[in-house]
Amino acid sequence: MLRQPIDQAAAALPAATRTSVYQSTKATHEKRTQLLFDQFDDPDLLRRRAGEIKQHVIEHLDTLLPAVEARLQANGAQVHWAATGEDACATVLRIMQARGATKMVKAKTMVSEEIELAHYLERHGIEALETDLGEFIVQIDKDHPSHIVRPIIHKNRREIAQSFEREGLGAYNDDPATITRRARQFLRHKYLQADVGLTGANFVSVESGRLVLVTNEGNSRFSLAAPKVHIALVGIEKLVPRDRDLGVLLNLLARSATAQALTVYTEFISGPKLAGQPDGPEEMHVIFVDNGRTDVLASECREILRCIRCGACLNVCPIYRQASGHAYRSVYPGPVGAVLSPLLAGEKFPELADLPKASSLCGACHEVCPVNIPIPDLLLRLREKGKREGAPLAAIGTPPMGAWALLASQPTAWKAALWGGKALNYLPTKLIPVPALRAWEEKRTLPAWRGGEFRKWMQHRTRHGAAPSNPGATP
Ligand code: SF4
Repeated sequence: MLRQPIDQAAAALPAATRTSVYQSTKATHEKRTQLLFDQFDDPDLLRRRAGEIKQHVIEHLDTLLPAVEARLQANGAQVHWAATGEDACATVLRIMQARGATKMVKAKTMVSEEIELAHYLERHGIEALETDLGEFIVQIDKDHPSHIVRPIIHKNRREIAQSFEREGLGAYNDDPATITRRARQFLRHKYLQADVGLTGANFVSVESGRLVLVTNEGNSRFSLAAPKVHIALVGIEKLVPRDRDLGVLLNLLARSATAQALTVYTEFISGPKLAGQPDGPEEMHVIFVDNGRTDVLASECREILRCIRCGACLNVCPIYRQASGHAYRSVYPGPVGAVLSPLLAGEKFPELADLPKASSLCGACHEVCPVNIPIPDLLLRLREKGKREGAPLAAIGTPPMGAWALLASQPTAWKAALWGGKALNYLPTKLIPVPALRAWEEKRTLPAWRGGEFRKWMQHRTRHGAAPSNPGATP
């Protein structure tokens, strides 16, 4: 994982990677927009509803979590609670060791990435194999995902073909269909050998205790169907109150994530195999993971817990498109990661305090978010938090913004700067005393000075309640 600040990581990104990230995110974003506006009269209304549902969840977790526990138990699942990532890893290990299990197949779960479960299990002699194609490639390359939905957006097919050749999965062949077929052949055996299948959950219905999983590859079905034990790792914020809320959220999730009306597979899991059913796990364990989420809930940025991990804010973000995912130095990249990762980092917040600055505050992330999270507002709150908590200066404020803050908060300095600006119109370039300003001025022709009337206009308006005339240009 990279360690340098995001601006340095972005500057060091190979041009080819930047191009492929840009093209891929742009294409998905455009398809998403077209699909939503073609198929819904008012997509904004839908995402406001979705935001309200998820906001209700995060404000009522104290009652919804015990309710879903009771419902899951009634369905035959065993429920576990993990306060930290270490607790969650230890719970998975305990379940496996109690059954003498040594092999796990893993469908994609962001929480397992967050708590680094695969590495933990490996250290305890357990094979935990990723079965999502992108995650599988990340695993064999000992890499990290760089996008929430497309973990290998930073790789091209030639690199993947080389990885397959290196791992003995066939001679070099960069045809995508061949790569996929080889991965499938390799993984099919692994499903049959596995003792445990691990999944996440996109949603858990409090009403019915159903876990909902959306995938395009069908790997989570195999991970559920073949092994005897199913473990689901679920962040505590993943609840929806009622089954019918899924109608709103599923309609938005696939369109926002992959520009599909619905993913290829949408699975509803109600519990372990019942007597008389031929397939399915005999045991089902649901581990609810906190790992800093209650701290996020108590923070000024709690709305970020509405996130349904669609990745739409990454696809539209000009910073993500330039920097790619590894620059965010955490499992959650892009605008959502710029908010969530520093918060989940807890005491290590200052180390990631540059991330909230990784935004132009253009607002595109808010516009596309299917649960209407006001990400730019949250970024500003986090910048303020960084300042309050003494994050390193380099991470929270660059000199130009510091100068702007001084000017904007000190009327005398502001007036002096305005007069300085006016003087630039008349001062020959070579006499400008500040080298950076001189270099800047050499390449530009300033427009003629037209300002100076706004304050008079505003004072008059304040005193008399009306403007004397159009104030013209305002400095
Ligand atoms: S913040 Fe919104 S747009 Fe970004 S991943 Fe989460 S739900 Fe999707």
